[in-house]
Amino acid sequence: MEIKTIVGLEIHVQLKTETKMFCSCSAKYFEDDANTHLCPVCLGLPGSLPVMNKSAIVQAIKAGKALNFTINLKSRFDRKNYMYPDLFKGYQITQFEFPIDTDGHVVLSSGKRINIYRAHIEEDTAKSIHDKEYTLLDGNKAGVPLLEIVSSPELFSKEEAKEYAKKIYNTLRFIGVSDCDMEKGQMRFDVNVNLEITKNGNLYKTPICEVKNLNSFRSMERAIEYESKRQLDEFEENGIVLAKGNKTTRGWNDNLSKTFFQRDKEESDDYRYFPEPDLPPLILSEAFIKDAISSIDILPTDAYNSLINKYSLSKDIAELIIEERDYYDFFMSTSLKYKNYINLSNWITTEILGIIKEHSLNISDIDKYTLIKILESIDKKIISVSSGKEILRSVILDKTNVDILIEKNSISSDSGKVDSIINKVLVSHKDTVEKYLEGKEGVLGFLIGQVVREMDGRVDPKDVREKILVVINKIYKN
Ligand SMILES: [Zn+2]
Repeated sequence: MEIKTIVGLEIHVQLKTETKMFCSCSAKYFEDDANTHLCPVCLGLPGSLPVMNKSAIVQAIKAGKALNFTINLKSRFDRKNYMYPDLFKGYQITQFEFPIDTDGHVVLSSGKRINIYRAHIEEDTAKSIHDKEYTLLDGNKAGVPLLEIVSSPELFSKEEAKEYAKKIYNTLRFIGVSDCDMEKGQMRFDVNVNLEITKNGNLYKTPICEVKNLNSFRSMERAIEYESKRQLDEFEENGIVLAKGNKTTRGWNDNLSKTFFQRDKEESDDYRYFPEPDLPPLILSEAFIKDAISSIDILPTDAYNSLINKYSLSKDIAELIIEERDYYDFFMSTSLKYKNYINLSNWITTEILGIIKEHSLNISDIDKYTLIKILESIDKKIISVSSGKEILRSVILDKTNVDILIEKNSISSDSGKVDSIINKVLVSHKDTVEKYLEGKEGVLGFLIGQVVREMDGRVDPKDVREKILVVINKIYKN
């Protein structure tokens, strides 16, 4: 028996705009009091009329360009009718038949191309806050512009699904289309999962199940994993295969790590779509699209290629640097002053990212001249590499003065003092020297450490190592 998991992903992303999709309510509602960002339009009161948000359309065009879509000159808004408590109007304005972006794709690190059917603009719904006995509604996010990005079912594992989703996440953040902050609900996933089972030469497909509203990469992966197992068990038990009308919708319980049945999946007929009568078709000019695209200063793929081709960075390092726009900007601005790009990128991706991730800081808070000064001091052999790392940490975390620290840690020019300390250390650790001579090379680090400590760090461990070896070979061998 051969089993293949088939996943299609729908990603909902809140577009970064000042106002909502069809009214002038502010779209920046995070942590504001409930129901303070509402007006007759987003409440759907009789007689109110929607007006399209131009900047949301610009953002959808930018996303379209970055994800290799065809951006359509003509698209249209439709009404999707359904009764749900979080939908005040009783319908959602979305793009059904004619979406703004069609036929996009991204390429995974394996080289596999994942096609994306479409990306369409729609409005977000209100937030339901469930209590044991009642449910409260907060309408602040009702009407915030969303882009729904629908992949074709070409993702064949949870790992591929995650890589695809991360690619979309990184791309949209990089060009500023969305912050995609999942804790704030700015990016959510619906996964469509089923199995292709080959048994005794026959191919069976299990019924597709859509798991809705996953709000982290991890829960998305776990939901795919759970569904693959559940569907296999179900198939072995009842043999039911995919047929028209047997799609289901399931929810995800993060605490139990389980999906649960919600309802039979609605087919598009159930929504009674029709063209939104209060909005004209969305007709874009070539010039408008060109303008929107030109507001992207650099695409992440171009940034990645330039890091490799122009700055000679390795693929892994380039990948780390374009992970966040801020990282890339930091590299670009420091590289104007410090030209050893490989050394610079190594320090950024290991030391700087290490410190900021450990202490939840932003790279934009870090003074680039601190890093440049430290790197230049190391290159000029004023301080050792290890002192440089400590100084960087101290300047970032304790706000100490970089010049004072460099001065304090500068390598001693008194080579006579270094020699005498080395002699002293070797004499008092004769047993360690013996071990080294017996072939235990690892103990050398201990001896170097002793010398560095005696010198208060004002010495380059590399030089100490060389000097110690000279002394050992000269005096202690034989
Ligand atoms: Zn409003």
